[in-house]
Amino acid sequence: MAKTTHEFQAETKELLNLMIHSIYTNHEIFLRELISNASDAIDKLHFESLQNRDILEGNEDYEIFLVPDKESHTLTISDNGIGMTKDEVVENIGTIAKSGTKAFLEQLQKAKENNAELTDKEMIGQFGVGFYSAFMVAEKVTITTRKAGTSEAVRWESTGDGSYTLEDCEKESRGTTITITLGKEFYGDEAEENFTDTWNLQNLVKKYSDYVRYPIKMNFETEEMPRDDEGKIIEGAEKIKKIELKTLNSMQPLWTKSKNDITKEEYTEFIKNQFHEWEEPMEVFHNKAEGGVEYTSLLYIPAKAPFNLYHTDYEPGVQLYSRHVFIMDKCKDLLPDYLRFVKGLVDSPDLSLNISRELLQQSRELKTIGKNLEKTILKALERMLKNDREKYEKFWQEFGKSLKIGIYNSMYTGSNVIDKLKELLLFASSKEGKEVSLKEYVERMPESQKKIYYATGTDKATIEKLPQMELLKEKGLEVLYLLDPVDEFAIETIRTYSDKEFQSISRGDLDLDDAESQEAKKETEEIAKNNDDLVKDIKEVLGDKVAEVKISSRLKSGAVCLVADAMGPSLSMEHTFAAMDN
Ligand code: ADP
Ligand code: MG
Repeated sequence: MAKTTHEFQAETKELLNLMIHSIYTNHEIFLRELISNASDAIDKLHFESLQNRDILEGNEDYEIFLVPDKESHTLTISDNGIGMTKDEVVENIGTIAKSGTKAFLEQLQKAKENNAELTDKEMIGQFGVGFYSAFMVAEKVTITTRKAGTSEAVRWESTGDGSYTLEDCEKESRGTTITITLGKEFYGDEAEENFTDTWNLQNLVKKYSDYVRYPIKMNFETEEMPRDDEGKIIEGAEKIKKIELKTLNSMQPLWTKSKNDITKEEYTEFIKNQFHEWEEPMEVFHNKAEGGVEYTSLLYIPAKAPFNLYHTDYEPGVQLYSRHVFIMDKCKDLLPDYLRFVKGLVDSPDLSLNISRELLQQSRELKTIGKNLEKTILKALERMLKNDREKYEKFWQEFGKSLKIGIYNSMYTGSNVIDKLKELLLFASSKEGKEVSLKEYVERMPESQKKIYYATGTDKATIEKLPQMELLKEKGLEVLYLLDPVDEFAIETIRTYSDKEFQSISRGDLDLDDAESQEAKKETEEIAKNNDDLVKDIKEVLGDKVAEVKISSRLKSGAVCLVADAMGPSLSMEHTFAAMDN
């Protein structure tokens, strides 16, 4: 095929533009992104080779190679991973098909509109627009790639100006080679950031990619004075050039070290590296289990919820290893869905390398490990709630929805999720500026209070204006504010906490049990009896619009309020259903 030119998608152009006119200044991370792509590509190859050994073409020595070239001011990063077909190059590199990247641009647009101070670092991290970061330092990027198991190779090239070219080419070895022709500021001894300098590259690999599981190799050129037989330097002789091949990364998996030997920074750097995070994780769990099923786990809760955590395109799950050898990414059958935000890895000699994904996910060992880890995480969260409230509130802000959805879903999954999670719930409340747990609510209930009151609404102010609130407030009764539609679904699923029922203040009878309320109730019944005709008239006028008209003691100064039937769906659930139908 002759060389053909193609336009980037509009979104890709926009993204490239952002990269080139650098929305952020940390240029060096491009190296980490390309190395991590190379490592991913080797992972993919390795995974495929478990089913089909032929794909390895007899070469199992996985490696990543860096070749800086001062003369042509290029930096080449090559891998012998899975490679790409021409279609895959077009799909993966030429277009932004991934919803993540689209969402990145949308988010960026929003941030601009709101003049929000979102740091670019945060944004790029969240959306992983890895490959394009090469254009931060490149004048031109050339990819040659051959998919393992095929014979046709393809060359892709772009200066990032809106189009790219494609042509067929020859490539001896499988995998991908990316050559970056560096921009003026990024090579030469004068440059502040010199990406042809071996020493600098070595440091960057140490800093960002030390734990990459495949060797990252580079040739070091040194010059030495020749020596005589006694080891003395021969003065005046010509220097001899030596080339030494070095592996730059230690490759020792961090999780195999003892907890006590690992600093917080090391955990953070490892997690950033391995899981494409940009921020220090909120919480790290590093555990070793022996006796029974043997395993090591390094799990973490990220600092922020991914933007698509509740979308169908979010892939939960942890990485699986067996004796430090990668088996699988995104194993989602290890942890329950309500912990979908937990990431990390599990390494167990009891997991078999050579069985299919399906069988592995059903394995008894995996189930046992999952159960243990679930317990560990829930315990840690309970501890956090007890001992570090501020941190827990941050956690709740980011991931609380996940637990609430988990409770709601237990209606279908039929598990004992409610018991596991109810103590971890927080709700806004009429009493305190902060969110409260059910335990805290119940502990300060007056003796006469029989139910846990809640109100639903989109924000606190709206709820506080509800006519029903006035009475409860006057009686000093605490009301939980359910501000997220899923709150009410969760509460409806729990039904009772510590033998107390949940009671919506805009639903059925409030059932206030104190003497004063009993009095008011009697009075109301009296009034109702005497005004039977009035009530009937109102009902006739309103007709089908209401189910029933009642004289009530739930109001203070308001003349009338809408309440939902005690048995039917609550008002806000009705709103939610109405919204879902549309
Ligand atoms: P991500 O790595 O998050 O998927 P990137 O922008 O870094 O996003 O890469 C885009 C895609 O390009 C990858 O998902 C992969 O399919 C493909 N790709 C990039 N680099 C390589 C490589 N070295 N070998 C094979 N495929 C690659
Ligand atoms: Mg990537």
